[in-house]
Amino acid sequence: MALGCCRLCRAVLRPWRPRAPPASSQRGLGGAAPRGVAQTPPTFGFLFDIDGVLVRGRYVIPAAQEAFRKLVDSNGQLRVPVVFVTNAGNCFRQAKAQELSDALGLEVSPEQVILSHSPLRLFRQFHEKCMLVCGQGPVEENARNVGFQNVVTIQDVRKAFPLLDMVDQSRRPKELPPPTTDFPTIEGVILFGEPVRWETNLQLIIDVLLSNGSLRADVADVPYPHIPVLACNMDLLWMAEAKMPRFGHGIFLVCLENIYKKVTGKELKYEALIGKPSIVTYQYAEYLIQQQVERRGWPSPICRLYAVGDNPMSDIYGANLYDSYLKAACQARAQADMKGSVVMTDSQSEDRLELRKDWNVSLESCKSILVCTGVYNHHEDMPADPHESVLGTVFHGHRDFCFDPSLVQASCVVRDVNEAVELVFEKENWSQE
Ligand SMILES: [Mg+2]
Repeated sequence: MALGCCRLCRAVLRPWRPRAPPASSQRGLGGAAPRGVAQTPPTFGFLFDIDGVLVRGRYVIPAAQEAFRKLVDSNGQLRVPVVFVTNAGNCFRQAKAQELSDALGLEVSPEQVILSHSPLRLFRQFHEKCMLVCGQGPVEENARNVGFQNVVTIQDVRKAFPLLDMVDQSRRPKELPPPTTDFPTIEGVILFGEPVRWETNLQLIIDVLLSNGSLRADVADVPYPHIPVLACNMDLLWMAEAKMPRFGHGIFLVCLENIYKKVTGKELKYEALIGKPSIVTYQYAEYLIQQQVERRGWPSPICRLYAVGDNPMSDIYGANLYDSYLKAACQARAQADMKGSVVMTDSQSEDRLELRKDWNVSLESCKSILVCTGVYNHHEDMPADPHESVLGTVFHGHRDFCFDPSLVQASCVVRDVNEAVELVFEKENWSQE
């Protein structure tokens, strides 16, 4: 099993029913504190995956309603900060927030929802540049909503340069069109999700990369590095109503990478890969958690995050990866303190994203909790030895993610999200009511 197969795993889904967690794979969160009733301001928060944790398609999982009854106070206000993190992308945050509000019986704001493309808001260095957007659904509006002010679509390119899109003979121009003179130079590409008419999208994106974004100019040498490419959602396959898995955006990226390499002999480079399990998605989640803390006036910074998900390859891998990243950052700070020097982070993204300059560096850990109400099936998905599950199957993760079997091991496996909340409350010495 592999990184990008989260939706593929749904091929083995059965109707939802509570299951006892596998005793052998259960791991603790470490040193559970004795139960108490102290209600100090929260120093921890939750990241909840949506599909398979809180809802299944159009149906809410009963344990989710039970969990949220524990998470809200008598005024219906959350007692701890919560962010919902999903790899879905072809919709609006407002719509997803409304769905969650209806399902969970509390008011969820769009600022609590992270879709696969939401972290693009942090890439401010591109917001004023002319960006080509690719995908389906409201991609142009989504791009503008996360801060991009100068957006062109694949359709805009095709309309301006009709001679470039030649695969479908019925769409070729009947007469030679006049040359386009006023089309802007494209300075970057954002891949939101799998588009329709792949041949058109692949052709025009490659054209943009080979022409350095200037489609009016003659192409001489291949510019390299090419203009920046940002990609959201690396899921290779996903499971819908059909019995076999469907192509996800990861497949489109495989096509684009291979065409680029075949044509130029060089690797397609990504400025960023966004969506679970990317670190930047968790950085953005942390950012939204800290914003909630400030809005609510809670005096203590958040030190611990608990990420609850149903998919070992995205939710668990991502949370564990972020936990490792936090530990490395903490170590680097400690070493820098000893030397009296400035911390140099090894994360490329921080400087570019201006992350961590916006809030206190308080977060110490991000623990992963795996639930059995969705993709994960402890009888079929996860052999006791994670190497077995990885080495025996094809790697479905993205090209740029090295697979580490230890990262799919959850800190803890529980039956459902309600048990996850109970477990964290106990660990945090937090009253259940
Ligand atoms: Mg899920």
